[in-house]
Amino acid sequence: MMQRFNSPLHLKDVGLSFNTQEKGSTSVAGSRPFYVIISVLLSISLLLPTLTANAQQIKPRIVILATGGTIAGSAKSSVQASYNPGVQNIEVIISSVPEVESLANLEGIQVCNISSQNITERVWLELWKIADSLFKNDLCDGIVITHGTDTMEETAYFLNLTLRHSLPVVLTGSMRPATAISADGPFNLYNAVALAASPLAHNKGVMVTMNDYIYCANDVTKSNTVNTNAFSCPNLGPLGYMREGVPTFYRENMFTHTSASEFDISNLIEKPKSELNELSPAALNKLPKTEIILSYAFASGTAINAIIDSGAQGIIIAGVGHGNFNREILKGMEKAVAQNIAIVRSSRILMGGVDFAAEEYNPQYPVSLNKSPQKARILLMLALTKTKDPIEIQRIFKEY
Ligand code: ASP
Repeated sequence: MMQRFNSPLHLKDVGLSFNTQEKGSTSVAGSRPFYVIISVLLSISLLLPTLTANAQQIKPRIVILATGGTIAGSAKSSVQASYNPGVQNIEVIISSVPEVESLANLEGIQVCNISSQNITERVWLELWKIADSLFKNDLCDGIVITHGTDTMEETAYFLNLTLRHSLPVVLTGSMRPATAISADGPFNLYNAVALAASPLAHNKGVMVTMNDYIYCANDVTKSNTVNTNAFSCPNLGPLGYMREGVPTFYRENMFTHTSASEFDISNLIEKPKSELNELSPAALNKLPKTEIILSYAFASGTAINAIIDSGAQGIIIAGVGHGNFNREILKGMEKAVAQNIAIVRSSRILMGGVDFAAEEYNPQYPVSLNKSPQKARILLMLALTKTKDPIEIQRIFKEY
């Protein structure tokens, strides 16, 4: 039998558990006002002080937030490469790894059940709200998020920048569907629960574990489209590895993250308009729109001009080489800056990043340093909730 939290932590009973969504649906946990969830959690904690039963001391309390992806995927046969992602719900996924019982008292919450190419800003915000609430109310000791691999690195980095707690948050997924021979999901989930349950994992920033490696959210990227060893940290290397349920760390994440982050997105929870100021995310009621422009041989200005006209507040240039771009893109960059749209230069190249010694260096266009274009976009979105000053944006890119 799966170990379960004591009744006060049985999240299904307190309004945080939501049904598996139909494939393709982006319906998420927070469709009801979040303050209702918080107040129910708080009142139940107050009414039932028996919360700290012995079991809680014996094993860490780990909550698994399930979002879908291949780890929840199902194929017609055990050898078929094509499959439907986001089919199985969290109960089925957990029950396929009975070994996790020995690691933690587990609870699963189905936040959504989608392929991660369909992830939305709303799912990010719901994950943040649920995780923030679980930690703030001392309802768990660590969180595992099961996620599709395509955008796992982006969700991980968003939470790494915004979830201001030091307890472990670990994302995992799989490359083979749950129905495959030698599916990789069960072991990845086992490692993720073991990592989230480990005191060694505290204050490391949000992590990803896949194929026995532990990666930091800052640098991790999907670098193979089909192989089970699909992830890497191309610039910095993995943080460490998992072996027999125990993490070994080689190095620290030296960038500012989680509990030390300056990005407070709690304002995204709706507030009366009178309490908002112009630059707060709540005033925008969403993260500032930020897009990516890919640079390539004889690129035209069509894409960058369309983005400028779309009302974007920030643009990441995924440059060639060391963050370079041609005259057509430069014309668009100049037009963007004239319209108070922030530009950050990154590179389409996997390794090396873009630094100040670049051919095209101009402080008006901050450089992303080691951040890939997709990570730079997330950091710029958050930076834009605070400032539009390129010098300050560059400071943020150095720090995170
Ligand atoms: N397209 C899938 C997803 O990201 C791929 C996977 O999970 O491996 O959801």
